[in-house]
Amino acid sequence: MTEKRKARELIQTHGTNSPLDIASDRNIVVLFEDLGKQTWGYYSYTNRIPVIHINNRLRPEYAIYTGAHELGHAVLHSGINTPFLRSSTLFSVDKLERQAHRLAVHLLIGDNEPVPGESRNHFLKRCGIPDEFHIFY
Ligand SMILES: [Zn+2]
Repeated sequence: MTEKRKARELIQTHGTNSPLDIASDRNIVVLFEDLGKQTWGYYSYTNRIPVIHINNRLRPEYAIYTGAHELGHAVLHSGINTPFLRSSTLFSVDKLERQAHRLAVHLLIGDNEPVPGESRNHFLKRCGIPDEFHIFY
């Protein structure tokens, strides 16, 4: 299944495209923690407890995106600990990373559609996707 289809399935199942609401609905713990200057977030699976960690220093748009990315791991790669999302590895070619980014982008887009004449950049920004991640659309 493509990440886009998986995102649509999540939105249908949970009736929202909010990553934090979906996480809570799926009993995934979300923790806002001080993760320093480099790390945005990570997903851990310890003692069968899935946890999304989000750096509490991030601006809201980035915190939500990070939540969507880590939710991607929780859904697509549920039983494993995945790499930290760091400012130095945002464009990692790692397959798991790219999958989580694509799911995040399509989740945040949700049912939104570009209006006629709207640029791709404007559309994705309107969906709350920071510029850095438009390449995953
Ligand atoms: Zn990741």
